[in-house]
Amino acid sequence: MNFDTIKDGDAEYLMSAYGRFPVALVEGKGAVAKDADGREYIDFTSGIGVNCLGYSDDGLAGAVSEQMSKIQHISNLYYNPLQVEVAKKLVELTGLSKVFFCNSGAEANECAIKIARKYAFEKYNGKRNKIITLVNSFHGRTITTLAATGQDSFHNYFFPFTEGFVYAEANNIESLRSLIDDTVCAVFIELIQGEGGVNPILKPFVWEAEKLCRDNDILLLVDEVQTGVARTGTFYCYEQYGITPDLITTAKGLAGGLPFGACICEEKLGDVLSAGTHGSTFGGNPVACAASLEVLNRVSDSKFLNEVSEKGEYIREKLIKMNNVKEVRGLGMMIGIVLESGDAKEIAARCVENGLLILTAKTLLRLLPPLTITYEEIDSGLDILERVLA
Ligand SMILES: *Cc1c(COP(=O)(O)O)cnc(C)c1O
Repeated sequence: MNFDTIKDGDAEYLMSAYGRFPVALVEGKGAVAKDADGREYIDFTSGIGVNCLGYSDDGLAGAVSEQMSKIQHISNLYYNPLQVEVAKKLVELTGLSKVFFCNSGAEANECAIKIARKYAFEKYNGKRNKIITLVNSFHGRTITTLAATGQDSFHNYFFPFTEGFVYAEANNIESLRSLIDDTVCAVFIELIQGEGGVNPILKPFVWEAEKLCRDNDILLLVDEVQTGVARTGTFYCYEQYGITPDLITTAKGLAGGLPFGACICEEKLGDVLSAGTHGSTFGGNPVACAASLEVLNRVSDSKFLNEVSEKGEYIREKLIKMNNVKEVRGLGMMIGIVLESGDAKEIAARCVENGLLILTAKTLLRLLPPLTITYEEIDSGLDILERVLA
């Protein structure tokens, strides 16, 4: 199928939920994607932070096909050795205590919300169920995670939304303090708001938030769905804040391109989801687990993590010198570009026409390159961006 046939078929058979760039991707290697007409693109998107090892990585492909020909799925009625291996690795890497597997970021966040509410329900006789999230946050597309998302534009059409979410202003500790009372069970935050415009949450705010949580027996939950799995130069972003969350959620890059998510919690929350209170048919699927093991073994290496930071720094230094760039934000290879002028979506479309895939977030351009991207690929992509911005 050439592009026009694909586009027509999409319009005829698929729901119109997505605004798409006029490109159909059919294969890729490393940070280079190829479209249906054979054109190549440097990829600064990694499928929105998912393909952390790039396209068709040999190690990942090998791990997946090997597992596929052994056993592709077992239900959660039976023990699963791969779940044990991945969970052990996540526990060792985080210092947290227990893991629940699911298939996406929104599901990981649903799980976090259920854990926080059940924990508080049992401890405070049903009197604590409110969850504080941040204005401008993004936590997913289910009815409950939309309610958790602190943006009015997401609170439309699908009424009634799940009750019990209130929104504090990021980096405004008085705003957070004013919402805390004895009906609150958790504070749930991203450390860099990804979809919200690559807004890093400031350390003093996060430290103060952690202290408020500790003083009031409120759980601190961190949404690491976009910031996690080495994206920001540490395995999880919270390490750079020096905090100890009670629970983190993770997905996107966790299995390098297969649907996979997890909720990782500390000891006291480890047995909140007793048998029968939560579940997932596909959660912890052996093939996703095998992919995740390959990803975790590679990206948790300290040399790999340092390279992510160094490449991020290299990209930032080049970006800030470019025409029309006002500010560069983010950590590691999660990068937001504040423009002097012009529409980010239009600029992203011009980049695509010139052979570069790039993301936007609100009015910013956003880069989430594969973590394995080479300096040559970075330079080729930045050359295209520089030409478009000039
Ligand atoms: C992408 C994202 C989600 C939602 O993940 P899905 O896999 O699309 O459900 C949740 N939180 C954050 C911070 C995200 O970036």
